[in-house]
Amino acid sequence: PILLISSVAVILIMSTLYHSLSEILEVLTESERNAKHAALHDVLTGLGNRTLLADRIEQSLRHMKRDGGAGALLMLDLDGFKQVNDAFGHNVGDQLIKEIARRLLWRLRDVDTVARIGGDEFAIWLSNVPHLSGIKTVCQAILEDVSEVCSLADQEIYVGVSIGAVQATGTDLVSDLLRKADIAMYDAKADGRGCFKIFTKGMDAEVQRRTIIEKKMRQALENKDCQALQVHFQPLMNRGQEIVGVEGLLRWTDPELGPISPAESIPIAEDCGLIGKLTALVVDQACITAVHFPDLQISINLSASQFHDENLALRLEKQVRGNGIRCSQIELEITESLLLEHSQICGRTLGQLRGAGFGIALDDFGTGYSSLSYLHEFQVDTVKLDRSFIQSAKYGKSIAILSATIALGHAINLRVVAEGIENLEQQNIALDAGCDVFQGNFFAPPMAPVELVDFILTSKKGQASAA
Ligand code: C2E
Ligand code: CA
Ligand code: CA
Repeated sequence: PILLISSVAVILIMSTLYHSLSEILEVLTESERNAKHAALHDVLTGLGNRTLLADRIEQSLRHMKRDGGAGALLMLDLDGFKQVNDAFGHNVGDQLIKEIARRLLWRLRDVDTVARIGGDEFAIWLSNVPHLSGIKTVCQAILEDVSEVCSLADQEIYVGVSIGAVQATGTDLVSDLLRKADIAMYDAKADGRGCFKIFTKGMDAEVQRRTIIEKKMRQALENKDCQALQVHFQPLMNRGQEIVGVEGLLRWTDPELGPISPAESIPIAEDCGLIGKLTALVVDQACITAVHFPDLQISINLSASQFHDENLALRLEKQVRGNGIRCSQIELEITESLLLEHSQICGRTLGQLRGAGFGIALDDFGTGYSSLSYLHEFQVDTVKLDRSFIQSAKYGKSIAILSATIALGHAINLRVVAEGIENLEQQNIALDAGCDVFQGNFFAPPMAPVELVDFILTSKKGQASAA
């Protein structure tokens, strides 16, 4: 009996031990599974993360190498997500991300992989799309799905998405595909957002040029290379054909690349955080001209991105005064997008700039939202009508719109400048419509300071002999 009892006891102990062990094992397996899942998935949406995506692409490429076929990688970046977050809070932002994830999953097939790879960035691997037309169809459908209204927290919220896509075959590398889809996505953003772009070799060359320009700009700014980076000045004339001001425009000539237009260099400076330094250089050169011509108002362009810097107004005021110039001699040109942002910090900075005495001009009017009525609240001094506005005003109705816009501007005490006047006809249209100030190659192109001196002397002589 003792033997029997002890055998039973051993069996009981063993079985309890076995149960506890298998329970522990189960818990361990479960937590390992959880850890694995967490390592490969995004907590908020449950979608795969970058690691899982790369792994799926890798596997798929291996199959394609063996069996042929083609896939595609899509990179998605939401447009306007930051504004939703700022306006409605992070909680709504999170819900919005979940909703977008749900729409993407609904749209795609089981064999495809949807991953969340950043705050508002998603990536999609389409494992079997032999033709470009298939990729385009998917991109178009996603654009439509995402832009549908989201009803969240009693609000109707709209966001858009920019998509970059690249076609893939078995010989591609995952890192290359990710880079190319990213390049295409930035191209879609640059092209006005809310669209998709398929990667082409030309885009690669474009990115390489951007990288070179960024490097060269950094060097030129570090060396304070005033030979390469210059400011030219374009006269602004009043109705009596007298010069009343000049606009400073950046001119950059690189020894190897040749002249690089501001249309190319300024967006790069904005993107890579060099716009502040570049503006400082422009301000210094503009102040030198301001000292020589105390009667001229000097206009300087500011980028909207500079307004995210809280100390912009203080720094500009200090710099201008340090150069011995009154702030009131300087007019700062901003674009409409800045006013439309309605952000607190931009409004405050604008107020500080005005407080310091700077004039404020709204540039490129007629290319964007184009409503003067809201300018009232921003206390802008000048509005500059874009070249396209004057050019399109040729016939009855469009001339009437131009005249009405100028009259409205005058009614709220704005000075109205017509930009880009290229010929006598345009000058007369702008004159008849009531513009106060005129700028354009018809009067004078942007000039180096020495040429500006000549221009001013000659036009003064002309005025004197006319009198
Ligand atoms: P913007 O401020 O609208 O400047 C006027 C642009 O029109 C200048 O181009 C000028 O050369 C050009 N322009 C003047 N008259 C005529 C004309 O009769 N016909 C035509 N077709 N064009 C004319 P630019 O110098 O190439 O500058 C392009 C843009 O780059 C500027 O547009 C401005 O937004 C930006 N930019 C230039 N310099 C700076 C700068 O120092 N800082 C910042 N943030 N932006 C700058
Ligand atoms: Ca301007
Ligand atoms: Ca302009």
